Amino acid sequence: MRVDLSWLKLHPKETERFHLEKLYGNVEIAKGVHLLDQAMVDLEVTNTGRLMVGKGEIKARMELECDRCLNRFEREVELPFTVEFCSEDNRAFFKNEETFVYFVEPQVDIEPVIIETILLSLPITTLCSQECKGLCSICGQDLNLAECHCQEKEIDPRWEALKKML
Ligand SMILES: [Zn+2]
Ligand SMILES: [Zn+2]
Repeated sequence: MRVDLSWLKLHPKETERFHLEKLYGNVEIAKGVHLLDQAMVDLEVTNTGRLMVGKGEIKARMELECDRCLNRFEREVELPFTVEFCSEDNRAFFKNEETFVYFVEPQVDIEPVIIETILLSLPITTLCSQECKGLCSICGQDLNLAECHCQEKEIDPRWEALKKML
């Protein structure tokens, strides 16, 4: 996913729009996180002089794994993001600012920024739905699909003891 900043680099104060697409199909970008289909990026970049400041939106479809029931499910995301491009000649002005994307050639790959934005958007706990009941910790039954009887069995011994007392 490359943006070509060669025109913009020569035109301070101008803004250029980019539309990028990449076909992922089914690519694992982190454990349990797959990118599906085509990811699309719309980006507007302004040359502010020493920097090129970009604002954009990512559209992607992901397959995730629920932390509770372990089922896979799909989710579409639309994520705003910002990116600052800095040519190597200007690096010194910004004291190696870590968040910038530095470039020598004006065809700059922004895929790392896209992937990072997607990963940072994921919650710490991924759930297929807020109401997900998860798996039974004893028998492993997916409690979204059916109930199991483990809870009842746990009560049994006490119930037996009580019956003997009576
Ligand atoms: Zn779930
Ligand atoms: Zn169970």
